[in-house]
Amino acid sequence: MNIILLGPPGAGKGTQAARLVEKYGLKQLSTGDMLRAAVASGSELGQQAKEIMDRGGLMPDALMIDMISERLDQPDCAKGVIFDGFPRTVAQAQALDELLAKKNLSLDAVIEIKVDEAALVGRIESRIAQSDGGAVRSDDNVETLRKRLEVYREQTAPILPYYQAKGALKTVDGLKSIDEVSAQIEEILEGARSRSGVEG
Ligand code: ADP
Repeated sequence: MNIILLGPPGAGKGTQAARLVEKYGLKQLSTGDMLRAAVASGSELGQQAKEIMDRGGLMPDALMIDMISERLDQPDCAKGVIFDGFPRTVAQAQALDELLAKKNLSLDAVIEIKVDEAALVGRIESRIAQSDGGAVRSDDNVETLRKRLEVYREQTAPILPYYQAKGALKTVDGLKSIDEVSAQIEEILEGARSRSGVEG
């Protein structure tokens, strides 16, 4: 089973993905985590990524598509994956469709975690406050958040009608509690599993 979690920064994609990893044995593919690992390694790619991430921009599509394509070929992805942070543009979504077809993989659900912007700003502000200056992400500040929200609206949100037109899009209310959001997602996935007959 392969699924996409969509939603603006701070919507809770990472939290929900972690739960799905536990419950279904899927592998979480977070492009944000992959890029942060590249930054930590100090590679050339990491240096480029740091600069772009810190200003809330997006990495080039071709680079992200190659990164995902390579990652999907690893054995730990065999049981299925949760795409978290990818696709982020319509071009990435189109490329993902082609990739999956070429690799003979299905896309079982596209789930939008819907939240309003005011709630997001509040969440990230408290994430910053709680971190006590410790493990805070260098792109977790109100200014970058606003930029990331704008990029989401302009470049990522157009993915929603793309999947809607394919009849693949499901939306859950991300303002509910973490447990309630999980329950909504699980309900969708149970439906997707029974349709595709996927086990485990
Ligand atoms: P969040 O979900 O909090 O917005 P992520 O951890 O998914 O953040 O990503 C952090 C940053 O990494 C993004 O703001 C962007 O600069 C970069 N990034 C992550 N995924 C992609 C992608 N698929 N395409 C382009 N840039 C990306």
